[in-house]
Amino acid sequence: MERGQTVKAKKYEINLPFDENIDFYRIIFENSNEAFAVLKDDKFIIFNKAFKKLFNLDEGHSFYNKSIFDLLNSSNQNNFNEILSSLKNNHITEINNLKCKRNDGYELELKLNLLPIQIDTIKYLIISFHNLTEKKKLLEQVNKLSRIVNQSSSIIIITDLEGKIEYTNPKFTEVTGYFFEEVHNRKLDSLIFGLITDEECNNLWKQLLSGKDWRGELKNRKKNGEYYWESATISPIKNDEGIITHFLAIKEDITEKKEMEFELKRALDSSEEANRLKSTLLSNMSHELRTPLTGIIGFASLLRDELTNIEHIDIVDKILKSGKRLLITLNSILNLSEIESGTFPINITEFSIPSYTKYFLTNYDKTAAEKSLSFSIEVLDEDICAVGDENLYKQILLHIVDNAIKFTQKGSVKVVVTSSYDSSNQLKAIVKIIDTGIGIAKQDQSKIFREFRQLSEGIRRNFEGSGLGLAVAKKMAKLMNGDITVESELGKGSTFSIILPGIKSTSENKNRKSSKIKIPTQNKTREIKGNNKLYVLSIEDNLLNAELVSLFLKDICEVDSAFNYEQAIEKIKNKKYEAILVDINLGNGPSGIDFAKEIKKYNEYKNTPLIAITGYALLRDEKKLLNEGFDYYLAKPYDKEDLIDIILSIISKK
Ligand code: ADP
Repeated sequence: MERGQTVKAKKYEINLPFDENIDFYRIIFENSNEAFAVLKDDKFIIFNKAFKKLFNLDEGHSFYNKSIFDLLNSSNQNNFNEILSSLKNNHITEINNLKCKRNDGYELELKLNLLPIQIDTIKYLIISFHNLTEKKKLLEQVNKLSRIVNQSSSIIIITDLEGKIEYTNPKFTEVTGYFFEEVHNRKLDSLIFGLITDEECNNLWKQLLSGKDWRGELKNRKKNGEYYWESATISPIKNDEGIITHFLAIKEDITEKKEMEFELKRALDSSEEANRLKSTLLSNMSHELRTPLTGIIGFASLLRDELTNIEHIDIVDKILKSGKRLLITLNSILNLSEIESGTFPINITEFSIPSYTKYFLTNYDKTAAEKSLSFSIEVLDEDICAVGDENLYKQILLHIVDNAIKFTQKGSVKVVVTSSYDSSNQLKAIVKIIDTGIGIAKQDQSKIFREFRQLSEGIRRNFEGSGLGLAVAKKMAKLMNGDITVESELGKGSTFSIILPGIKSTSENKNRKSSKIKIPTQNKTREIKGNNKLYVLSIEDNLLNAELVSLFLKDICEVDSAFNYEQAIEKIKNKKYEAILVDINLGNGPSGIDFAKEIKKYNEYKNTPLIAITGYALLRDEKKLLNEGFDYYLAKPYDKEDLIDIILSIISKK
């Protein structure tokens, strides 16, 4: 290259000792990627572009004659001494890790190579600056990551493309018992993929090679042969070009969790078994207790109708009262167990709270009047409907109103039907039962919702009851996403509020009446005589109960009795009955359900009403029986009136 041919040489302040190719050297110096500067004494006389860039110097910024010590601004005195001694003693020096701050505050970490040269009598120092800052940061990052991998509580394995192990972390050794050296370069699929079938292994590889992660739980074996469970994520690692170069497996030892799961599953299985046994036991208990209760209550009520002597009537009333009390307790215990076992059936519908409340409380004014209490129902929101199970609502309402009457000696019991929005703006149907009774002290108000709690407990008990009713009622309300609350003052009275999810009425839900709710009828029995009597077959294996049915229905039906399945089939073949009462449990042999199925095969009996009567009166039985082809359902012990209601409704459809 000839002088000045391609590049305009800059004028420097000193004369360099080269003349021939000076521009050529200048260009190399100026354009080198390495930052260079030349000092005379400690002062800069030349520096190149890379130097300016490194120190963030403006174009045209002159560092000429500035001291290197000003530029480096280093706090490390040793660095200065090294530079000084290089200058003075003419030896090549390397300064590593020199930290300094740039004018803009950026921290630099540099490596300096000092090359002293002497031209004539003048000493120069050529310095090259290597920037270590980014490299250092990168290194720190890598160190940090490798510490994380090393200390990780997960097993980490890296393999090459063929699955040969290139890295394992200490956790791998801790869990499996294999040292890295033992597995390095070994293509041990089982160490990574666990004890899986060839097919699963192929699929796993396919997924990984297509660039997707694989996740799953694997059973694996340790070096000592023990099994362990791990949850694994295996991912392909790609380079900048997107080509898979390695696989990374990150695995957690989940043996304990897995064992707990197995344990839970075993416990669940045995608890389900226990639950099944409990349900059977409950069901049988229900039958065994209700059948004799039907006899006690039924015959007592028949006897009461016949008696004229006041003292005798009083005695029978006591039998009736005791029987009914036993029945209430039995129902509460059975309901509670059903709710707790999660088998309590609920049927959520929308129903008008004002109509249903008035309807359910028909005749309560008379009950209250017997204690000289006034009874009223006030409706503040005619349009409010509840979203719940009307049967459960009935049970809750009746229990709370019964309590209100029981615990009030004078004054009134008032039922208020209203609605309001709760804090999350949800509409609630609210029924308040307000009494002027004995009241409940503040500290006792939460106790009354606990099972078997009465406020006058032990030998000081003043009121009858099992202390179960409110506990069961509250659980029922919760089943419907509702609640029961109480406000009360001792000696002044209580307000119980039944709160259910609410909805404003539409013409549909307002006028709907449930088919399951029986319409009360009074004293209609005597109207039907002679030829209008219904021919009824009663199938009942218990002689007392069979007799009871006949006595209950003597005024309105001609009742034939069958004591088992075979007798019943025989009877229907010989005579046409207009209704059949079927006890579900008929002892050994076919049941009442079998009978219901069989009778549907007879053409003339296809539409004959079937009434199921059973002591298996857990709530879920009712639905089951209605699905089995029965038209009506009565739980033992039943009231004479309930049976008569059903028969009258059959007669009315004749
Ligand atoms: P029980 O069936 O024995 O009446 P409950 O669960 O219905 O049981 O009620 C529990 C207790 O709560 C009652 O024994 C009584 O002490 C108290 N209690 C319930 N309702 C009222 C009320 N309206 N006024 C005063 N106390 C009440």
